[in-house]
Amino acid sequence: MSNILVNGGLGFIGSETVVALINSGYNPIVVDDLSNSKIAVLDRIETITGKRPTFIQANCTDYAAMDKVFTENKIDGIIHFAAFKAVGESVQKPIEYYSNNLKSSLTTLELMKKHGVRNFIFSSSATVYGCAKEMPLYENNETGDATNPYGETKVMNERILVDVAKAMPELNIAILRYFNPIGAHPSGLLGEDPNGIPNNLMPYISQVSIGRLPCLSIFGDDYPTPDGTGIRDYIHVLDLAEGHVAAMKKLESNSGLVIYNLGTGKGTSVKELVKAFEDANGVKIPVVIKPRRAGDVAENYANCDKAFKELGWKARFTIVDACRDSYNFQKKNPKGIE
Ligand code: UDP
Repeated sequence: MSNILVNGGLGFIGSETVVALINSGYNPIVVDDLSNSKIAVLDRIETITGKRPTFIQANCTDYAAMDKVFTENKIDGIIHFAAFKAVGESVQKPIEYYSNNLKSSLTTLELMKKHGVRNFIFSSSATVYGCAKEMPLYENNETGDATNPYGETKVMNERILVDVAKAMPELNIAILRYFNPIGAHPSGLLGEDPNGIPNNLMPYISQVSIGRLPCLSIFGDDYPTPDGTGIRDYIHVLDLAEGHVAAMKKLESNSGLVIYNLGTGKGTSVKELVKAFEDANGVKIPVVIKPRRAGDVAENYANCDKAFKELGWKARFTIVDACRDSYNFQKKNPKGIE
């Protein structure tokens, strides 16, 4: 059985990926510093899968602690989620974002080299495409010029990985560019649990739906889109998790460096997502129209043909599934995971 080191494996996407790995016969070894996740997630992974993954509480920038993880466990592959991810906060704290998000991946790459691990998956983001003029976005589009430090850390990490792959052709590296992850585990045990007021649309909507927040602000209804609100490619987190398993299998065939968009290929506006949430769950989401949010683009959605062709992966769940699962998680965890 392959041992997969999952850095940041108790977070929103990480925890769902740990479940998917276990269900596919892998043995995940989870590292997380709990800076933006809860230890209770580990119990919940065990409840869902019947298996408690090995867990090490450590910060991925801590070379000594991570070296110990590599020494004590035979690692066959790595999935690197561990990063700061709040766009707005990254504008306020660029030093912390560049430092953490680069050091954690570089430390992992150094140890990967030292311990002879060959397979590495990196969590990237659609943000690397910057302000692209044409949709959908293809993997070979130009990248760079992300609109904030968080996005720049994704661009920089991608560049590092391209250079590493050139220098070490024996490595297999997958860069996965996530579009907008939403939804939750259908059990209601795992889901998005942001600290403080959510920045992202779906957790905001679900907190409004249970009365934890009074009303959703829609940031701009004057975009050049059919209903004037921003369009994004929302993907169910379960699909995203399966994308990691498919990518790991690809790496095991000695793929070298590969890059995939993980999205649905379909754009949904803010108003459409609100309506889908209301219809799926029989609730009303009060909204107020506010000015555009700085740094937002009108639309952003993926072409995902490459992942389908090369990984046999495509998104299976709909926006309605995701709205139902997000609401279920929120109702079962009104104050988040405790
Ligand atoms: N959005 C909104 N209200 C919110 C949060 C987000 O209208 O409280 C809009 C935002 O302007 C964008 C879309 O929802 O058009 C998705 O935003 P999110 O922050 O979830 O993801 P992003 O694509 O910006 O990473």
